[in-house]
Amino acid sequence: MKIRAQIGMVLNLDKCIGCHTCSVTCKNVWTSRDGVEYAWFNNVETKPGIGYPKEWENQEKWKGGWVRKPNGKLEPRQGGRLKILGNIFANPNMPAIDDYYEPFTYDYEHLQNAPEMKTPPTARPVSVLTGKKMDKIEWGPNWEDDLGGEFAKRSKDALFEGIQKEMYSAFENTFMMYLPRLCEHCLNPACVASCPSGSIYKREDDGIVLIDQDKCRGWRMCVSGCPYKKIYYNWTSGKAEKCTFCYPRIEAGQPTVCSETCVGRIRYLGVLLYDADKIDEAAAVEDPKSLYEAQLGVFLDPNAPEVIAEAQKQGIPQSWIDAAQHSPVYKMAMEWKVAFPLHPEFRTLPMVWYIPPLSPIQSAMENGLIGENGIIPDVKDLRIPIQYLANLLTAGKEEPVVKALETMVAMRRYMRKKSVEKVSDAATLKGTHLNPAQV
Ligand code: SF4
Ligand code: SF4
Repeated sequence: MKIRAQIGMVLNLDKCIGCHTCSVTCKNVWTSRDGVEYAWFNNVETKPGIGYPKEWENQEKWKGGWVRKPNGKLEPRQGGRLKILGNIFANPNMPAIDDYYEPFTYDYEHLQNAPEMKTPPTARPVSVLTGKKMDKIEWGPNWEDDLGGEFAKRSKDALFEGIQKEMYSAFENTFMMYLPRLCEHCLNPACVASCPSGSIYKREDDGIVLIDQDKCRGWRMCVSGCPYKKIYYNWTSGKAEKCTFCYPRIEAGQPTVCSETCVGRIRYLGVLLYDADKIDEAAAVEDPKSLYEAQLGVFLDPNAPEVIAEAQKQGIPQSWIDAAQHSPVYKMAMEWKVAFPLHPEFRTLPMVWYIPPLSPIQSAMENGLIGENGIIPDVKDLRIPIQYLANLLTAGKEEPVVKALETMVAMRRYMRKKSVEKVSDAATLKGTHLNPAQV
């Protein structure tokens, strides 16, 4: 058993309000520089949507990345090797600027220098890449929000014109949620495997994945290789860049910037202990629907005496063992099983986990879809389909997601009864699968 410590994050999607504060504060700290104007180490996606960059989840689109073999397994398409075109090294299979968006600023000078006019002047968008004014902007992060608004307007117009009632009712049944994303600081990082320069490394102490800027040669195989598309190429420095998990802050005992500034307080940081010898086996599990459980199997119980003794023997600092014992990430992911990894079928063992959203909980309760005791009678009728969440978080397996939602509903009722209605624990949890000791 080779014990390692890893810092991880859990995000409670029920509480994300899509305000993008995390993205903006991260940008101010890490990517407010030339060449990475388009880069968002943390971004918040509108889901369902094609994401940022476009279609990042489509592993078969990025040929330098991963491919599904006839046996259904995803494998690196080129085994992490360089593809040679003519006599130059090249990597054509990666997102282009149009898959992100053309970064722009505004013509602020015009606000100061415009000639006198009847109405206040307008600052038009100006391309950061060309310096030219842009007549219109055709794509950008969260464009789906705007398209949704357009669809709603057109649907209503159609209804008022007395046509296409079914189109409007289709709109009424749509759903939307937010998915904040950052580098997953994977236990089995494809970016590390695909870097021909050996410039990407995973830190032994805390598992944070970093790029050595002195060693990076700008091949960009990591951009193709990362299934989450969370490496960005700086077109000024010619180097690849990525989320650093705010390691200078972590080393000083501070939370990441995105966690500290999160308006919804949705982010939890914590340490996990895992057995590095089990990673290959967990990543190679054939049946995608067994992957989530197999990946859980690499983590160790930080309270088990034999794990503590072995961790101490292998030189894991006592402060990290203590942190693992009090880790909210361990509790939510391993003990309570309410948090899940994003796309475990990518097989990199991601370390940013998500609590699925119940939303809109209020309407579900009002419509009788969520029962008194917290059990969901017919989960398929919830507005965000369970299958959709399962495809995102458990490689399509619905049962763990249902159980997590039930637990969250029960917890919600428990807290309300305890703090507002002053009801005892035993009475509150009667009829649920929880017992008072669990809460
Ligand atoms: Fe590397 Fe991508 Fe995993 Fe981050 S999410 S560690 S960039 S493979
Ligand atoms: Fe969601 Fe928090 Fe980011 Fe706002 S700051 S978008 S609530 S994760």
